[in-house]
Amino acid sequence: MKIIDHINKSNGKTLISLEILPPLKGENIKSVYEIIDPVIEFNPAFIDVTSHREEFEYKEVKDGLLEKRVIKRRPGTVGICAAIQNRYKIDAVPHLLCGGFTKGETEDALIDLDFLGFDNIMALRGDAIKSEVYFTPESGGNEYALDLVGQISAMNRGEYLEESIHGSGSNFCIGIAGYPEKHIEAPSIESDIHFLKKKVEAGAEYIVTQMFFDNSKYIDFVKMCRAEGITIPIIPGIKPLATVKQLNQIPQRFKVDIPDELVREVVKAKSAEAVRQIGIEWCVKQSQELIAFGVPVLHFFSNSKTSNICAILSKL
Ligand SMILES: Cc1cc2nc3c(=O)[nH]c(=O)nc-3n(C[C@H](O)[C@H](O)[C@H](O)COP(=O)(O)OP(=O)(O)OC[C@H]3O[C@@H](n4cnc5c(N)ncnc54)[C@H](O)[C@@H]3O)c2cc1C
Repeated sequence: MKIIDHINKSNGKTLISLEILPPLKGENIKSVYEIIDPVIEFNPAFIDVTSHREEFEYKEVKDGLLEKRVIKRRPGTVGICAAIQNRYKIDAVPHLLCGGFTKGETEDALIDLDFLGFDNIMALRGDAIKSEVYFTPESGGNEYALDLVGQISAMNRGEYLEESIHGSGSNFCIGIAGYPEKHIEAPSIESDIHFLKKKVEAGAEYIVTQMFFDNSKYIDFVKMCRAEGITIPIIPGIKPLATVKQLNQIPQRFKVDIPDELVREVVKAKSAEAVRQIGIEWCVKQSQELIAFGVPVLHFFSNSKTSNICAILSKL
């Protein structure tokens, strides 16, 4: 079922959803089930599976020469989505990136996703690969998520890259990313919301936000989007803080602030378990406020661990 239909049929009740990463290459599908199994009793409406670009590794070979190797550490997005739908009968949402794909390869991927029976796709640009500073699209690929949304919408209308082909069309519901604290490359939040609206006009039906730890950032963002005429559901993405290290890692990696009140509590904590509990309590409080605000879905970023998410859901 489409995410937008899940939301429309929920009668205003806040749904929950989960986002997981494919396991590292070499691990097996059981590790995915171990992450998802404990959450099933809380009835997630859908489960997203992230997609990961290739990385370049330079290995020293003979005579000090370096050999460039291309490695993909977390393959398997589509296979995991298929396994989730098959095992749990829950809608799985594959993330699809611009990066690393020509438009032709994107079209082939969309045909596979359509044939496999997926109703939803999260359309993203992707970040620069680790060894590069700026995102570079594949030659002949989509440059922005906006272009990818446009390509998916075209296929929904039965239009393919070869103009002579007109098909019956796919029927994907398209999700996109939004940034309450602004995307790192955007010169201003206004500019970021301007392009967010373009993605909506190109056919996106719902937004999932980057994580935030201060609900006022999300609420202000929703108000700004509504003022700009963006009317589609804006699903808050949230993540429980779990370790002291994340105080620095999360702002660096995701360009979001951590409120000082939370920082002070974590710094005072006497053990790793105490930090984990603080993260859980903070996330419970955030979730309760967001439910009261009337969010359509609480989308939990799991980072391959769900014991803290289950603790939060039990308290909710
Ligand atoms: C919920 C969520 C899930 C994610 N899942 C993944 C994942 O699975 N895999 C992964 O690699 N990454 C993922 N990301 C990260 C995402 O790929 C990065 O944040 C990436 O840098 C931007 O992706 P985007 O789709 O928001 O890009 P875009 O919407 O293309 O925006 C990128 C930047 O360009 C600007 N911009 C947009 N359109 C235009 C235009 N036409 N002209 C000029 N500027 C423009 C925007 O303001 C923004 O600053 C996720 C992010 C979120 C919030």
